Amino acid sequence: MSVYQEKKTLVLKGIGISPGIVIGKAYLFDPLDIQLSFYKLDDVALIPKEIQRFKNALKESERQLLEIQENVRKTKIDEPLYVIDVHILILKDKKFISRTTKYIRRLGINAEWAVRMMLDRYKKIFADVEDTYISGRISDIQHVAERVLRNLSGKKRETVWGFDDNVIVVAQDISPADTAQLKMEKVRGFATDIGGRTSHTAIVARSMEIPAVAGLDNITSMVQTADILIVDGTAGLVIVNPYPDMLTRYEEKKTHYAASKKEYLSHAKLPAVTLDNYRVQIGGNIEFVEEIPMAITHGAEYIGLYRTEFIYINSEDLPTEEDHFNNYCQVVKTKELLWSTIRTFDLGGDKFPSNSKPAKELNPQMGLRAIRFCLKEVDLFKTQLRAILRASAIGKTKILFPMISGIEEIREAKKLLQEARAELIAEGLKVAPDMEIGAMIEVPSAVVLADKLAREVDFFSIGTNDLIQYALAIDRANEHLMYLYEPLHPAVLLLLKRVVDSAHKAKIRVAMCGEMAGDPMCCLILLGMELDELSMNHLAIPRIKRIIRASSLKDAKVLLKNAMSFSVASEVRAYVQDYMKQHFPKEFQKEED
Ligand code: PEP
Ligand code: MG
Repeated sequence: MSVYQEKKTLVLKGIGISPGIVIGKAYLFDPLDIQLSFYKLDDVALIPKEIQRFKNALKESERQLLEIQENVRKTKIDEPLYVIDVHILILKDKKFISRTTKYIRRLGINAEWAVRMMLDRYKKIFADVEDTYISGRISDIQHVAERVLRNLSGKKRETVWGFDDNVIVVAQDISPADTAQLKMEKVRGFATDIGGRTSHTAIVARSMEIPAVAGLDNITSMVQTADILIVDGTAGLVIVNPYPDMLTRYEEKKTHYAASKKEYLSHAKLPAVTLDNYRVQIGGNIEFVEEIPMAITHGAEYIGLYRTEFIYINSEDLPTEEDHFNNYCQVVKTKELLWSTIRTFDLGGDKFPSNSKPAKELNPQMGLRAIRFCLKEVDLFKTQLRAILRASAIGKTKILFPMISGIEEIREAKKLLQEARAELIAEGLKVAPDMEIGAMIEVPSAVVLADKLAREVDFFSIGTNDLIQYALAIDRANEHLMYLYEPLHPAVLLLLKRVVDSAHKAKIRVAMCGEMAGDPMCCLILLGMELDELSMNHLAIPRIKRIIRASSLKDAKVLLKNAMSFSVASEVRAYVQDYMKQHFPKEFQKEED
């Protein structure tokens, strides 16, 4: 242990992308540990040969990816398969190939240089995209380009494992192919420079239940192989070369975490029913089909929010109706799920499919996004509507329209849905006769109009992530404003109460699918409002169920009434926090350790 005492201790804050704590030795993973040589071709006659060399490297890269895929298939870890498919698609992408060969031909440079120029070009394009979800997709292109470069150099990746266990992989980013090549049984954690909640590292880490922190900026330049690391994926912290007392504290935290996780999962499938018999249905939010098994093991009874935007990411061409349909079928046919709520895509603003990006908007969050974008791009929208309707014949499906701000939008969306239904029936295709239609309540005007909107739909789903940002005028992604982003703000509570009451008056169900639904501190407040359904990140489910099962609706209503009597946000929070800590000491006290 003398290693860490001689070295500088660093505490790095990133984004916790997979919870849990791990303590171990760092393994600095460099996907491109090769020297590249860039040179001009001194004779035009060399150009065809150089292009052929590039094409051979593409072929070899594809062969390797297929081989990795084959090996992955033999293991229990099948999450990377889908993304390796995407990498193969990038390898075959016409633009990727034609631009690179154009660089070789026009500039007379070697293939390595041309691939590097191509990568730089994509990096620049992606860096200009404000949406981190989209800009993060550059990592796929980077992984593919690095593989091609490696094959051009003729060098094989050598993975060196100098130690036996407790390895924490430190990398810029980790591609699914990397995870397949790493000896995953020895990997205990990830810490990466880039990436966020939706990065592949995050998905793989969560599905394998390995603690991980991403978005650490340049941890790769601060850590050396064999440094001691603590990765706290719950808090989003990495401690490099910790002091001995830090190690002791985190060992205790780790033991506590492992024990509570075991306990949580053992009751994860129990229903969320209060002591006085009020039943809340608990669903899972997903962005990828691959997340469904984890949602189920963590106790999701249904999918309350499938964010379908991902279907567009990584694809040069617009997905076809069949692409959509096949994807939705995978969700709705899952037997363990009571139903699946497919949200029509929340594109626009700063998330655009393919090449259809219009002029940059000054304020994309309030721009041409979600339902507004869909009602303008009717063909694109109808393709998705048809696929959702067809999926409804395969398994229980609900449709959810995002960003509804007024009655006309929901009527227009319903009209298009009706048209799509009529077309499908005329074509002899099967459609469920009774697919429920929901409106997301995430714009304040929809709250004001909730009474009237409730007459238009079968259910509401409250999107607190956007509702809070619009109601309090706080950009949800601006870290400088996070201190103002308060789900327990008295104004937010009033808005939520109004939505729930309006829904119940109209005898429709009301769900919540924003992050607040999975926030244990807000759990009893939402219970007190009598929300019917809470849908959340699967990792939050066991804890929320546990709190609900140990509470009564009667007490939750009293808590809500008292909380709503305060007019200052910090007072509401202090009151709720005190209550929760007092009544659920096991759930909350450890957070402050
Ligand atoms: C929300 O706004 O709360 C929501 C669930 O939608 P998204 O986070 O995808 O905008
Ligand atoms: Mg939203």
